[in-house]
Amino acid sequence: MKFSKFGQKFTQPTGISQLMDDLGDALKSDQPINMLGGGNPARIEAVNEVFLQTYKAIGDDGLEGTALNAMGNYSNPQGDAAFIDALVGFFNRHYDWNLSAENIALTNGSQNAFFYLFNLFGGAFTDEHNQSVDKSILLPLAPEYIGYSDVHVDGQHFAAVLPHIDEVTYNGEEGFFKYRVDFEALENLPALVEGRIGAICCSRPTNPTGNVLTDEEMSRLAEIAKRYEVPLIIDNAYGMPFPNIIYSDAHLNWDDNTILCFSLSKIGLPGVRTGIIVAAPEVIAAVSSMNAVVNLAPTRFGAAIATPLVKDDRIKQLSDDAIKPFYQQQANTAVRLLKEALGDYPLVIHKPEGAIFLWLWFKDLPIDTVELYERLKKQGTLIVPSKYFFPGVDVANYPHAHKCIRMSIAADEQTLIDGIKVIGEVARELYDAS
Ligand code: PLP
Repeated sequence: MKFSKFGQKFTQPTGISQLMDDLGDALKSDQPINMLGGGNPARIEAVNEVFLQTYKAIGDDGLEGTALNAMGNYSNPQGDAAFIDALVGFFNRHYDWNLSAENIALTNGSQNAFFYLFNLFGGAFTDEHNQSVDKSILLPLAPEYIGYSDVHVDGQHFAAVLPHIDEVTYNGEEGFFKYRVDFEALENLPALVEGRIGAICCSRPTNPTGNVLTDEEMSRLAEIAKRYEVPLIIDNAYGMPFPNIIYSDAHLNWDDNTILCFSLSKIGLPGVRTGIIVAAPEVIAAVSSMNAVVNLAPTRFGAAIATPLVKDDRIKQLSDDAIKPFYQQQANTAVRLLKEALGDYPLVIHKPEGAIFLWLWFKDLPIDTVELYERLKKQGTLIVPSKYFFPGVDVANYPHAHKCIRMSIAADEQTLIDGIKVIGEVARELYDAS
């Protein structure tokens, strides 16, 4: 069978699709696996209980009730109106944003939102002289989320800026680093200066590193976006106010040049595939039109479960009181285990500031981390090697991109203990032999 160019683009094996198959196969095998790859959120008991109660309650409110109404009817392409109204109330209650329903659209997960947004703002444009211009999505701080890499319908349209790397401490201890935006490189980027950037985007907290861009970095990015008349897209999948997996002092701002993307996935509901976009009405109208073509309407089940939790702020309480402390504790446990296993070796850890991962930099490791991944896999431990997290970067010319790994901290404590034991043994052997 022959596929179109579009078909070929989306069916060709990508680095990440191969890796995800690998992770899936490993999980199906009968060997015990320490699963520190993947991005699944943890199952947190207190949170699950609330989801289950809500699920039962919306199922019990009768034939004309919430669950059947949500399952039995399409919403309009913008998304479930009751959920959008609840979100408008919620955001205006907690932030001074003065939103209306015209500022919010729903998508089938935020991955779906990035597919729309990166194709809206990246790719072929026609300029004022009727000339074709190819515009990219500017990622101001590489490494970035692996899931951005392949979403463009035609080619790849990213420009990325390599980070400054600062040595920092964490809880008073040495052995940590933090990535910071290189604003000098960013402001001098030819694509930006020459009008070949269509939007600026960052995840905050960042998947894969757990970095949280500072308020100062964010306000500089917002100012640059305005100056070049492009939107600033903030991927808030791990951010505030839900799931609020942020430990550094950070604030969230929105204005009509900002496109904020939220998700219900990392509060523990990845299966309901619900993403939320907060943006200017023009962007919301565009997303709604794309929803109509691609999905008719976004899924309503996540909306039905989340609406009562958004209305009475339980989504925020759960995030503050259960989800954030859980991951903070997991991060601290993983850091302690890593220090015990590799404290005397040149491993440095990105300062854990949020999200559900640790990012480990094996300085001077004699092999690259794709090979390390293979060796760890043979010993039953799965992580993700760093080279896939650099959309827009020519990793062949950037050695640092081959020396890090991402490990999830969402697993239970025993899996962290067993997995880090293997990482320690394999890395020590490599360092000792070099
Ligand atoms: N953005 C980031 C930074 C992520 O880590 C993920 C998922 O792992 C997504 C977006 C997409 O999440 P979802 O489509 O489940 O909302």
